[in-house]
Amino acid sequence: MRNPICPSCKNRFSLIDGFRMFNPWNIKCRKCSAILQGGVWQKIGLFAGFVAGLAIAGFAIWQEEAGKWETSDSLVWFAFSLTILYLACLLLWPRYTFTIKRNA
Ligand SMILES: [Zn+2]
Repeated sequence: MRNPICPSCKNRFSLIDGFRMFNPWNIKCRKCSAILQGGVWQKIGLFAGFVAGLAIAGFAIWQEEAGKWETSDSLVWFAFSLTILYLACLLLWPRYTFTIKRNA
């Protein structure tokens, strides 16, 4: 898997760095301190993650309210869903690109 690079200092980001990038409009490179902006895949990923989170929680609430699921069923559902979300993040990660918003 190829990790994306900082356009300012050519530092290759690690996957751990990726999990620290919460705001795709304001990302700070840990090596050169440049302020970066994420590309379209980061913004799609953020939006899709938000929608998926609502859908996952909503489905569990709906099943519990309907009396079909116990809390333990919801916990199994969350573990399964979060694994799928994590794998989706891993697939998106090599597609991440960055543009320089402001140099350090
Ligand atoms: Zn950098």
